[in-house]
Amino acid sequence: MDLGVNAGQELDDELPNSQREFTDHKNNQFTCPICLFVMTDAQVIPCGHEFCKKCLTDLTVYPQSPPQFACPLCRKMTEIGTTQHAYGSQCKIDLLHIICRNAGCTQKGPRSTIIKHEMLCAFLPFHCSYCSSLSTVGDLHDHYATCSEFPRLCF
Ligand SMILES: [Zn+2]
Ligand SMILES: [Zn+2]
Ligand SMILES: [Zn+2]
Ligand SMILES: [Zn+2]
Repeated sequence: MDLGVNAGQELDDELPNSQREFTDHKNNQFTCPICLFVMTDAQVIPCGHEFCKKCLTDLTVYPQSPPQFACPLCRKMTEIGTTQHAYGSQCKIDLLHIICRNAGCTQKGPRSTIIKHEMLCAFLPFHCSYCSSLSTVGDLHDHYATCSEFPRLCF
């Protein structure tokens, strides 16, 4: 039987860390000084300060030649294009424990584990394709049993 579990279901593995819940978000050193969330796609600039890639691209660019922006922490002028991936920090960020994004689920673990878990999570939200009420994958069979719109075969 096709439960239609994939119908309209879009899973975004790349959910930014601002939308992720960390088990230890208050005490970690990987907070972006601009958005105050754990950095997403951590970048390091020549002064050594680190930010999210997205946050850096939102900074004011001064139209010098070459164009520059001021580091939000130390105000050092920094040329566009001199930013680099902060591999060291990013590796450690990926090891931080996050909580499954699905409401009601308390599963925690490093990002790679949680992303795999989320695709199989019983708390994955699911819109019934018959009555369009919101349920979870784990409750699907129970929901279909009581769904008023579910097509029942007459014998
Ligand atoms: Zn940021
Ligand atoms: Zn700086
Ligand atoms: Zn889960
Ligand atoms: Zn239904």
